[in-house]
Amino acid sequence: MPDEVKLDKSEFVKEDSRQLRGTIADELAEEELDHFSKDNAGLLKHHGLYQQDNRDARKQKNPDGTRRDKAFMFMVRTRIPGGRVPADALLAELDLCERYGNQTLRITSRQGLQLHGIIKDNLQQTIREINQTQLTTFGACGDIERNVMCCPAPLRHNPVHDQLQQTADEIAEELKPRTTAYSEIWIEDNEGNRQDVSEFTPVDEPVYGTRYLPRKFKSGVALPEDNCVDILTYDLGLLGIVESGNLVGYNVFVGGGQGVTPSAAKTFPAIAQKMAFIGVDEAVDVARALVCVFRDHGNRSDRKTARLKYLLAGWGMERLKGTVEEYLGRPMAEPHPAEVTGVEDHLGWCAQGDGRDFLGIYIENGRIQDTETVRTKSALKRIVESYRMPTRMTAQQNILLCDIEPSQRDEIDRILADHGVAPAEECSQIRRLSMACPALPTCGLSITESERMMPEILDQLETELSRHELSDERITIHTTGCPNGCARPYSPDIGLVGKTAGKYTVFLGGNSLGTRLAFNFQDLVPYAEIIPTLVPVLSYFRDDRLQGESFGDFCDRKGRDDLVARLESVRGAE
Ligand code: SF4
Repeated sequence: MPDEVKLDKSEFVKEDSRQLRGTIADELAEEELDHFSKDNAGLLKHHGLYQQDNRDARKQKNPDGTRRDKAFMFMVRTRIPGGRVPADALLAELDLCERYGNQTLRITSRQGLQLHGIIKDNLQQTIREINQTQLTTFGACGDIERNVMCCPAPLRHNPVHDQLQQTADEIAEELKPRTTAYSEIWIEDNEGNRQDVSEFTPVDEPVYGTRYLPRKFKSGVALPEDNCVDILTYDLGLLGIVESGNLVGYNVFVGGGQGVTPSAAKTFPAIAQKMAFIGVDEAVDVARALVCVFRDHGNRSDRKTARLKYLLAGWGMERLKGTVEEYLGRPMAEPHPAEVTGVEDHLGWCAQGDGRDFLGIYIENGRIQDTETVRTKSALKRIVESYRMPTRMTAQQNILLCDIEPSQRDEIDRILADHGVAPAEECSQIRRLSMACPALPTCGLSITESERMMPEILDQLETELSRHELSDERITIHTTGCPNGCARPYSPDIGLVGKTAGKYTVFLGGNSLGTRLAFNFQDLVPYAEIIPTLVPVLSYFRDDRLQGESFGDFCDRKGRDDLVARLESVRGAE
């Protein structure tokens, strides 16, 4: 990067942080402090922690009418390549959410786990207990490689799925920061004493240097027939090419990304583009080379346009590929013709191919909790305590219970039924494929509701789909409380994105495969108008679709102007 470029302030914070230490340890030790300073809060993201405050509590006043202090709390995100969580680790996270969190454990849209509502006093114990299960929060957030995603289905009829996971694990290992700051700050030694972090001994950070990356970097690994981890929405997507049952290599897709800043017209969502075909054993080298190109050429003066997608937009594919090849020290082959052709949700009972089964359980918005009618948290605890099976998190925020003997199935079904957890077959298609980000009250960036409004939106949509005899249609809907797009709202059939208080942008025309961007159909739609805005399009789809055409393909074919004209003519006739 040229010297004269004015760096964003965060670059100096990272550079001066003594490899992500900052003064986190000092502020952690200050008992009277209930939160961290702004600079440390930025560094904490690399440790997997988001400093938040209860947004609902902001509205409350003290008895004397003065504004209440912020109720600080932390989101603690665990980084889990491929979403693989051993039984003990899941039970530990469920226990932690009850002891220190808000009684819920959230499966993230990138196969991680999130604890919400942890206060500062309990942070260290929480992180220590997570690490005791061999999981870590380190690298779950921040300007580094995030959680590497991979299709979680435990399919064993051939070695391909295990090879995909191996690639994801190897990339995660190669791109994990080498600084020892995390263990020094959070992990106590055997005598229960925290190490002295004031004695700073720098280690070599071969990938990240002193400033780490300009912004986050996301990767995923999938197969053409099952893009369940949505790889085209990431900076790097590896699409496995299988011939005669053997994994022969990967198509490399680069430059996907969902985040948008409404105040910055220069920002945009992007679907990753095909760059090259590589051998299986080249995946780690290519991932490292791409990350290093991003490290050296990504925009460090403006975080809004710092993602790889903006570098690709500015350079073009030919220059980006050529630069990656320079870093790699060799050319890469032209891409294989394979594209994404399918997506699975992995819900319900499925054969693993080794005589055992796995069970995909639908978790509404990924929130594992007990409500009055559905006690998913208790059911999962009971089942996992009894059978100690490994579990996996999906990118649609659901959970897979793996390695189940056929003789155990009936009892597991009975436990779920006793706790009010419906089998996946009883969930509507639209519900199975829905996703919402947490938004209010925990996310500091949320503008509108998302997770808390989604059940009602789904209830209404189910009614309308049934009325239109469209209940069996595979329609994906993703909702977020702001344009940052954590639940990937710019590529499904329907995307709802919080724009201003109580109002949403409605996107249409994406697809469940994640291969196409949706278009802005209607902006600033009040919450109460979302369903009335969608109903005329559903009617139009029912009446005018081509045979076998999906809702997203229909909207894409008709285009925005035609759909808007239909909406306006229906409104005019009312
Ligand atoms: Fe928060 Fe926005 Fe992400 Fe939702 S999309 S979790 S509101 S940053």
